[in-house]
Amino acid sequence: MDEFAAKVLAWYRSHGRHGLPWQVRDPYVRWLAEVMLQQTTVTAVIPYFQRFMAAFPNVQALARASQDEVLAQWAGLGYYARARHLHAAARLIVERHADGFPRTAEAWAALPGVGPSTAAAIVAFAFEVPAPILDANARRVLSRYHAVTGRDGRAQRKLWAHARDHTPALDVAAYTQAIMDLGALVCRKAPDCAVCPIAQGCAFEGKDTPPVRRPRPERAVFMAVIHDPDRGVLLVRRPPHGIWGGLWSLPESAELTSLPAVVAALGLAGRLGTACAPIRHAFTHFRLSITPVPIEQVSPRHDVAKGRDAMWYKGGGPGPGMPAPIRRLLTDYLEVP
Ligand code: SF4
Repeated sequence: MDEFAAKVLAWYRSHGRHGLPWQVRDPYVRWLAEVMLQQTTVTAVIPYFQRFMAAFPNVQALARASQDEVLAQWAGLGYYARARHLHAAARLIVERHADGFPRTAEAWAALPGVGPSTAAAIVAFAFEVPAPILDANARRVLSRYHAVTGRDGRAQRKLWAHARDHTPALDVAAYTQAIMDLGALVCRKAPDCAVCPIAQGCAFEGKDTPPVRRPRPERAVFMAVIHDPDRGVLLVRRPPHGIWGGLWSLPESAELTSLPAVVAALGLAGRLGTACAPIRHAFTHFRLSITPVPIEQVSPRHDVAKGRDAMWYKGGGPGPGMPAPIRRLLTDYLEVP
């Protein structure tokens, strides 16, 4: 084991994150956790992980579920392509790997939604296979330690080479968690070099460059609130790709003036009411402003949901998979419980 790995491991034993609910030698559990943790913090993931495991305790249960059931459990965690890929991969595993789970990083990386770093983390955690990872945390540590700049192909190859060189042959599960934790807890955007176990030898140590915060651009969307006195609020299923792919939401348009055409495309006629105050939702790369607009004097109502990806939602129960801000909007503005 090289000195870098030995220092990171020694630090991890006393300062790393232990006792997380997915820290078990089970490939299903580790796979689910790694996918949930992409772009999401540990604190945010824990309750979703626990609910998801209760609903789908093994890969067979996940493969048997419908996409709606999976998305409903994922709703609120964001980046819904992860849930769709997880579901598709579960079906492939059950179909192709009757003898259990893949045991190599290459086989995992061939599944939907599993990149090379996630694949390596799964086999390292579940099977102690010495595979190098390069997730966002490991990348930050290695690029600073080795002074690798840029994000082009050359920089990527250098970082993967460093990741390979440092990954030990033994104790790889602990090392993998250790380098992730070092990036998450010490070598953050604003690094805490004073407590870093590898400060000696780090090319970056002491160069205190505060992170640059760029304002996130804002996008606006207008959503039609179409009430039926008996049946609730009209929801439509979003296209399978893009943000909130496959989830249920209100009919929308980027321009207020285009909203009547969206309503007409659903086979309805109606008049735009007074727009409500917008609600805002922050994504990693942009902010979304959602303005609910009631549609008044709607006709006809009852058959609109027939034969389409549309439904009348009355609230109550877990309901269909909806993005968190849409659920919030329905609860707060429309008093749908
Ligand atoms: S010394 Fe500082 S910059 Fe270098 S790895 Fe440690 S925390 Fe990161």
